[in-house]
Amino acid sequence: MFSPEGIKRVVIKVGTSTLTHSTGRLDLRHLETLARVLSDIKNMGLDVVLVTSGAIGVGMSKLGMTVRPKELRYKQAAASVGQCELMHIYDKFFLDYSQVVGQILITKSDIIEETRREKVESTFEALFELGAIPVVNENDTTGVDEILFGDNDTLSAEVAALVNADLLIIFSDIDGLYDCDPHANENARIIPRVTEINADIRSLAGGAGTKLGTGGMVTKIHAAEVCFESGIPMVITNGSRIENAYDILAGHISGTLFMKD
Ligand code: GLU
Repeated sequence: MFSPEGIKRVVIKVGTSTLTHSTGRLDLRHLETLARVLSDIKNMGLDVVLVTSGAIGVGMSKLGMTVRPKELRYKQAAASVGQCELMHIYDKFFLDYSQVVGQILITKSDIIEETRREKVESTFEALFELGAIPVVNENDTTGVDEILFGDNDTLSAEVAALVNADLLIIFSDIDGLYDCDPHANENARIIPRVTEINADIRSLAGGAGTKLGTGGMVTKIHAAEVCFESGIPMVITNGSRIENAYDILAGHISGTLFMKD
């Protein structure tokens, strides 16, 4: 059973679609709620990590790019500008609730290589000890494809494993994992609990011919696999209601819980 009593450390991942409007500009209402809810969870005595996306999208909009650039250097330039903007807003909003945030930008090699991993791990621990909230993104500005996870779902699961989190919550633009394509079938239902990642679950995440993969479900299933390996429960829920985090921490899950029996 999922028992929220033991949860002392939680990683919360929020996607670009929750953090920005379709114009690419910041969704200040969502960002403000996010800062309030996470600060409150911190006040409840939990260690909190925020894994944020949005750097490239926000940077694009700030630089007047109307289409996502194909060339890596422009994507990296956009990430560089957008990451600044994101941290500026997080710093400001979290400060409103007397919380201090610290930026951690990492790449795959920081997680895979043992000595680097130890360093990153101890930085996280120091931030927790000092009462700060780590805000994590991939280091898109200097990373090349080989050393990037490329998606923040996987990144958030790796971070959850790194910091020995008790729970990972992924806020997405969908309500959870559906039993069939919700765009094509009005009777599609959310699967409330997944106890293992098998071929059926993988096919729901965007096998040939389904549209479910468009919500980024493939990377979420991959994140779930990382969480299963580390024994960390993971929840996918809708980012339009960040307050869902309270219900989840009280044991009432809206969305899909990935956890072994
Ligand atoms: N690191 C990317 C960004 O901040 C996001 C990757 C993702 O959306 O999964 O733009």
